[in-house]
Amino acid sequence: MSTAYFMGVDLGSTTAKAVVLDDQAKVLSAHIVQMGAVSRRGMEQAVESALASAGIAQKDINYTIGTGYGRRLVPEVGRTFTEITCHARGVAALFPEANLVIDIGGQDSKVIALDEQGLVDNFAMNDRCASGTGRFYEVLARALECDISEVGALAMKGTKDLEVSTMCATFAETEIISLLAEGADPADVAASVHRAIAHRALGLVAMVGKRDGIIMTGGVAKNPAAVHFLEAALKQKMQVPDDPQIMGAYGAALLALEISSGRQITQYDPEKVQALESKVEATFNPKNRSIPDCISCQK
Ligand code: ADP
Repeated sequence: MSTAYFMGVDLGSTTAKAVVLDDQAKVLSAHIVQMGAVSRRGMEQAVESALASAGIAQKDINYTIGTGYGRRLVPEVGRTFTEITCHARGVAALFPEANLVIDIGGQDSKVIALDEQGLVDNFAMNDRCASGTGRFYEVLARALECDISEVGALAMKGTKDLEVSTMCATFAETEIISLLAEGADPADVAASVHRAIAHRALGLVAMVGKRDGIIMTGGVAKNPAAVHFLEAALKQKMQVPDDPQIMGAYGAALLALEISSGRQITQYDPEKVQALESKVEATFNPKNRSIPDCISCQK
């Protein structure tokens, strides 16, 4: 029986995730709640469900770290960290040989380069344009009248490249509907959109520099076609964690354990992470970033 418990809460743009660890860094529970938009209620549900699955109460948690877009709304946190730091931490624990993380969430995509210790070396982020984010796949699923969890399987059946041109999510729906109205096979439409989005993601990878040892995280990594077409575009295989969507919350929970107990799990030095975080946070600030507003429109 563990004597201490640690929690990571990732309040993202579309989902809230909570992970509980015991004092041996074993995952006791993980919970994901779908939200309409960033909501305290969604986060509370994720926390309550994760606590209930772990069979403990809030008072049993020694330390919590909040991450994600809404991280400052997470109550009773010891500290907050950016998703960049938390995804890197989670990946470094599970994949010590990883050199690059591609994290695609509901409204942003990030590429994080890791040094040999798994610490953040460099990163690039697109959070100003829906192109290549989960939102784009949701637009596709809606136009094809299927669930987001089915759109990947449909795309894997596509055989023809329809050379989809619009990469702006605002206009993509119109193009997809036109293709369907012309009689295009929905599977080909799905495959073509996935292929086009994957090629766009290459631009973000190039900003950081392609490396071996790529791990894909975030909810979009649950989409088999998103993984497949990105691998094809990169000409490289990636690894995907069992649940890629909880990687930020898992990394946050690991940092909660390490920082509050002063213990170092694997070769990861929590003091270095804290020192690096201020650098990441400063670059993370949209005012300090040089990434174009809209990657689709930069041609
Ligand atoms: P955020 O942290 O920004 O809220 P997530 O990492 O939770 O985002 O990712 C949300 C995205 O993941 C959704 O927009 C959707 O595209 C994708 N997604 C979530 N679940 C699935 C699934 N079962 N199959 C395919 N895609 C999924």
